[in-house]
Amino acid sequence: MAFSNITIAGAGVLGSQIAYQTALSGFKVTIYDHNIESVKERLTALEPSYKHDLKLSDKELQAGMDNIVNVTTDLNDAVKDADYVIEALPESLAIKEEFYKELSAAAPKKTVFASNSSTFVPSQLVDYVDRPAKYLHMHFANMIWRHNVAEIMGTVQTDPTVYQEVVDFAKAIKMVPIELHKEQHGYVLNALLVPLLSSALQLWVKNVADPQTIDKDWMISTESPLGPFMILDQVGVRTSLQMVENFYAMTHNEVYKEIDAKLKEMAAAGHFGQESGQGFYHYPHPEFADPNFLEA
Ligand code: NAD
Repeated sequence: MAFSNITIAGAGVLGSQIAYQTALSGFKVTIYDHNIESVKERLTALEPSYKHDLKLSDKELQAGMDNIVNVTTDLNDAVKDADYVIEALPESLAIKEEFYKELSAAAPKKTVFASNSSTFVPSQLVDYVDRPAKYLHMHFANMIWRHNVAEIMGTVQTDPTVYQEVVDFAKAIKMVPIELHKEQHGYVLNALLVPLLSSALQLWVKNVADPQTIDKDWMISTESPLGPFMILDQVGVRTSLQMVENFYAMTHNEVYKEIDAKLKEMAAAGHFGQESGQGFYHYPHPEFADPNFLEA
């Protein structure tokens, strides 16, 4: 394994999960974040899910925490021994630009850099780094301990040896590496999922069919355990609104305005999806949990 010391830059929703998963897998982890207090809270909050979902003992969980050897606001300190830096800072080009310029100056020449960015492709950020051959993207899905894929995407400049080292690292932290051969917005998952969710929302606002009927068709016909509106309830209305507003900005198709208005009605009523107890379904006993949901 080429990497031992891993630095996670930005330990928010995703970075905290990446840090914990990496530490639990036996790597020495340093966290760089400008808000140390919230990082500690986030890490502690992950423990019950890991315990429940992966059946880890308290001893194993503690060993993971012990591998998080440094949590710091000082970038020079955070990367002085780093073999690999995974950046999970907010999805802002300005923040990432400033970070990569500072990181390039601070990190030893050996250090490989990866971004967890969901919406940028690596060639949009590579000009900010001093080592394009050692720069690529490693994209995780939220709740990485259960949704354990790592989508790996380089630029034409990424060194194939470095790419392979990152694939090996993904396996070492119990992710299934998804190797992309070229740049693709949305990687593989969102390139598939976003059009599906967008089509489902269009069928709904055009009143072609109601959400439950659309989900039933998808589930029965493809044997999928989830329909698109069940997924939308997990994703939440806030993220769906962002997605639809981006589509409108790109296409000026009025259907996205109609979806936007309907989703805003849901938000105004406090129906944000699963987390709020209501979205397209009612929780904690959603209609699809009825054993007869898929019957006529
Ligand atoms: P977040 O806002 O939850 O976390 C960002 C973290 O960075 C916070 O802990 C914050 O304190 C810290 N931070 C902000 N600015 C900083 C700065 N200038 N210097 C140091 N620390 C700073 O964000 P997130 O949802 O975890 O997303 C992070 C990245 O991961 C984004 O690129 C996003 O596209 C990607 N991602 C997110 C998800 C998701 O479901 N949230 C899934 C996959 C990928």
